[in-house]
Amino acid sequence: MSKAKILILGGGFGGIFTALELAGSADVTLVSDEDHFLFTPMLYEYLSGEVEAWHIAPRFDELLDDNINFIQATITGIDLATQSVLLAGHEPVNYDALVLAIGGVTNYVGVEGAENFTLPFRKLSHADNLRQRMVAALDRIPPDFAPQDARRETTFAVVGAGASGCELSTKMADLLNDAFKRRALQGEPRVLVIEMGDRVVPGMGDQIREFVEDALHKSRVEVHTQTRVVKVTADELTFEHEGTQESLKTAGVVWTGGVKMSPLIEHLDAEKNKRGLLVVKPTLQLSQHVNVFALGDIAYYPDATPTLAGTAQLAFQQASLAARNIKAYMEGNEMHTKHFEELGEALSLGTERAAVLTGGKAFGGALARQARFALYTSRLPTWQHRLRVGASWFFGGTTPQPLLPLGFER
Ligand SMILES: Cc1cc2nc3c(=O)[nH]c(=O)nc-3n(C[C@H](O)[C@H](O)[C@H](O)COP(=O)(O)OP(=O)(O)OC[C@H]3O[C@@H](n4cnc5c(N)ncnc54)[C@H](O)[C@@H]3O)c2cc1C
Repeated sequence: MSKAKILILGGGFGGIFTALELAGSADVTLVSDEDHFLFTPMLYEYLSGEVEAWHIAPRFDELLDDNINFIQATITGIDLATQSVLLAGHEPVNYDALVLAIGGVTNYVGVEGAENFTLPFRKLSHADNLRQRMVAALDRIPPDFAPQDARRETTFAVVGAGASGCELSTKMADLLNDAFKRRALQGEPRVLVIEMGDRVVPGMGDQIREFVEDALHKSRVEVHTQTRVVKVTADELTFEHEGTQESLKTAGVVWTGGVKMSPLIEHLDAEKNKRGLLVVKPTLQLSQHVNVFALGDIAYYPDATPTLAGTAQLAFQQASLAARNIKAYMEGNEMHTKHFEELGEALSLGTERAAVLTGGKAFGGALARQARFALYTSRLPTWQHRLRVGASWFFGGTTPQPLLPLGFER
């Protein structure tokens, strides 16, 4: 008898961990537009050179063994009625059970120029682009430039002071400050983080916020709360604070302002909540399609602690439940449900610090940085990859790579 065909769409946290748990139990196919998984929580360390691409973005052909098929392709359509999925440059693929794990896309919330002129920060290539932009800005400054001119040439803004914006801005500021010293430039660079709300990391508790505020201060990041970005051009950012607008010349603006659903999910004929997320049952199945499971950033799962929404932690935990329920579905057994809780927080704050919240207690500094590396080694996919990366960090170190002039860069 031929095995049931399970099609998993998306090779991020939800997709890869579901695939790995299902390996061997059915005819499993994983589809992703990238050739690698990405451990997004460490994209900041990739920007700074503390980690290398292979550590946090292992290729699927290394992670998946022969009993999982992998197709690298862009998904262009999902038809739940005919149980088929369209892939660019490939024949349509049919399935017996489908896993939707395609994650979200950057949400520019309609701000003029944001989509065209800001840098997104969700992929390896985005981190490469941002690093190049910082190097290019530094390379434009002659050694005798006046401090105020050097500062203007190296003004970078990060939009959104959620965890991502704070992690990114501290990392950028540390790298740029270090480069100013190495290149003996006068003055200092300017990094701003801009937030609409009245505080940084609005979704997090006060304990961890203290460490974040301290790190922003030590990395000399300018924090602008209750400030709304209204327009971005190739070299200028306009923002509004208490009814007054101000424009600023910028060398780069990075957008970490939010996530929305991809058109694939928008067009899917299935129940959604007000934010456009797919409403799933406690078993992760779509309400009208027992053979379709959704998880991660695209799914609204009522029985999860609210602060987990849109996190890797949630997608990672849901992957186990999805795999277990797909097996149960194929074998005609009873489905399982699970309440998902926070596993703790770990933020990278600049190149020397981090903050970790675990068991209700927060700690920071260099020790937290080490703890974060240790914790994340254990969360990478497959024990073989964990071992290789753990050994590399332990023996090779995790020293940041300075922003060198073009030609000497990585
Ligand atoms: C920079 C950054 C840092 C983060 N840090 C943290 C953190 O510290 N802690 C935390 O808990 N969460 C963090 N997150 C959030 C976390 O990454 C997401 O919540 C998590 O990845 C969601 O998993 P997912 O499987 O739903 O989607 P994703 O991991 O986004 O995976 C989606 C996959 O689908 C693929 N895909 C999408 N569209 C298509 C298409 N049309 N065709 C083919 N393939 C497609 C993508 O390439 C990707 O491989 C961070 C996110 C970012 C961007």
